[in-house]
Amino acid sequence: MQSIPYGRQDISQADIDAVVAVLQSDYLTQGPTVPKFEETVAAYCHAKHAVAVNSATSALHMACKALGLGPGDWLWTTPTTFVASANCGLYCGAQVDFVDIDPRTYNLCPQALARKLEQAERDGQLPKVVVPVHLCGQPCDMAAIHALSRQYGFKIIEDASHAIGGRYQGLPIGHGAYSDITVFSFHPVKIITSGEGGMAVTNDPYLWKKMKLLRSHGISSDKADMQPRAADEIWNYQQIDLGFNYRMTDIHAALGVSQMHRLDEFVLRRQALAQRYNDLLLGLPVVTPWQYPDSFSSFHLYVIRLRLDGIALTQRQVYEALHAAGIFVNLHYIPVYRHPYYEQFGFKAGYCPEAEVYYAEALSLPMYATLTNEQQNHVVQALKSILIPQ
Ligand SMILES: *Cc1c(COP(=O)(O)O)cnc(C)c1O
Repeated sequence: MQSIPYGRQDISQADIDAVVAVLQSDYLTQGPTVPKFEETVAAYCHAKHAVAVNSATSALHMACKALGLGPGDWLWTTPTTFVASANCGLYCGAQVDFVDIDPRTYNLCPQALARKLEQAERDGQLPKVVVPVHLCGQPCDMAAIHALSRQYGFKIIEDASHAIGGRYQGLPIGHGAYSDITVFSFHPVKIITSGEGGMAVTNDPYLWKKMKLLRSHGISSDKADMQPRAADEIWNYQQIDLGFNYRMTDIHAALGVSQMHRLDEFVLRRQALAQRYNDLLLGLPVVTPWQYPDSFSSFHLYVIRLRLDGIALTQRQVYEALHAAGIFVNLHYIPVYRHPYYEQFGFKAGYCPEAEVYYAEALSLPMYATLTNEQQNHVVQALKSILIPQ
């Protein structure tokens, strides 16, 4: 059997045709297709505004900047995430700290957040921005986090890099009732792809405008933004802020728009695969993903936890045995503060105990829309023969 990755894209002929059409048009970089992609995503998730950029990492940076994060401020996030969720704070010169995870959902734990906020208030070090991450596509307990934001006055950026197509309390992730900005990633392993790409959605017109400026050098050609100059001078644009070149191209946006047509189909297939895994893994010494009652996960990842006391192997041995069988399981994630770069900030192993226990047991099984039932059976068979040798 062919090797099986943990995730991969699904590109159709319609996707290819959409990209080729842009290549044959007048606009390669930001033309008419980028706004179309923005409108499509904003409409899908019931958000008022969207800003497409070249990655979710750029979107997170831009979102932090738009919220005014800077030196002297704190950004808090979960340790169980990709490094970008935390690095965006460092880019702004802010300090970064981590809130431990809920052992059932693996998402940032609202109770742990509440305790940490109480302490931070006493120390006069409350965060300016908190970044909950919808790990694997399962929404965080946003109502609880939002209630705390009202009490303590911090802003919320949802890192929904895993979660487009998911729902919380019946509403699509990105609707923004419980946050200031939501960020999506369109990297090829995510739910839909634009090659590389990201998007920030918001209901706040000020944040929308600010992020559009930051995306493109801080330059505006809107007459309303521009300062008056002498009547005989030519000023078709002015730089009014310090921004970046984070623009998305129309080539990427065309792929994104085309993929949006199949978003629901992709998520339903992922849901069906998750249900099949749940059934097939019954009786094995693993913990399958628990789902928060009022949520609908897009299942970017299907993470199992090994019951290490019930098997004779280490996590690493299971990982390597699966790789040797051509099944490229992965690990999401090493706690961010354990990375060498984060040592300089004084974090020590054991800082977030739940995130560390999770890290020692988790494995991401293959999960993507084109994974067949046969391939999935093969994955489960291989796992079974490794965990319970005959
Ligand atoms: C993939 C990912 C990102 C970064 O996305 P890019 O589009 O690759 O920059 C950020 N946060 C999380 C949780 C991710 O999984």
